[in-house]
Amino acid sequence: MSLFRAGLPALLLGACLVLAAPLAAQAAPMDAAAAQVRAEKPAKPPTTKELTKDQDSYLALVSRDHPLDPANYKPKDLRTVSGTGMELRKDAATALESLLKASRKDAQSLSVLSAYRSYDRQIALFNGYKARYGTDYATRISAPAGTSEHQLGLAADIGLSSGVCNLKACFGETEGGKWLAANAADFGFIIRYPADGEKVTGYKYEPWHLRFIGVDQAKAMEKSKAGTFEAFHAALVKASKVKPPTAAQIKKQRESLLILRFLPPYRDWSIGYDFAR
Ligand SMILES: [Zn+2]
Repeated sequence: MSLFRAGLPALLLGACLVLAAPLAAQAAPMDAAAAQVRAEKPAKPPTTKELTKDQDSYLALVSRDHPLDPANYKPKDLRTVSGTGMELRKDAATALESLLKASRKDAQSLSVLSAYRSYDRQIALFNGYKARYGTDYATRISAPAGTSEHQLGLAADIGLSSGVCNLKACFGETEGGKWLAANAADFGFIIRYPADGEKVTGYKYEPWHLRFIGVDQAKAMEKSKAGTFEAFHAALVKASKVKPPTAAQIKKQRESLLILRFLPPYRDWSIGYDFAR
């Protein structure tokens, strides 16, 4: 009799909990698991392919060691940067227009000296430097055709409207040069050839040369203290090779969270099943 008096209500309570628990458990732990997965996967991390094979990617690495393929690559979405007569890819052009507008607001007078340069234009430019300075120096200050970021349509050379220190290292010491270094990342640009970066980038300090990589990545690079785009790019490639969890792994993780959720009630219910009485 005591079994029915004490055990049955406990059994009924147990049954109610068995029915109610999955309903309660469905909402809470699944959200936790989803949040965890989201935390592990930040907004669209670049893929290895995007980083290493896609010339149209804003994160494409182009240098003497990483020439464009084909060498006469031309981006498809070039447009004129308003008020300059020079072209960049659409998003880079919009970003540069915003940057210039902000610089004017801060009483800076900056001009775009060069932006997109075609393969043929780069050949002429490089040959001109070679004739003037010899191959060695020309190579330190300019890219052979097919290896220039300007050909990507994502690079722009910025100078002071006064012309002072244009395309010279001293631009970095001017008020305008300092403004550019401090604000470029907010618009998705990086100073691509930093001081002391020549061993890695292959180029002398170019405080005037901006490269567009998008706002998120430009800010991430600034935070990372990678120093050069080469180092930042290598870190991105490394991260892209870490396999994200598969759908099956995510499901398993959610199930284990559900099981953990169920454990305490099961353990506690055994108190109610006192059949020895
Ligand atoms: Zn440049």
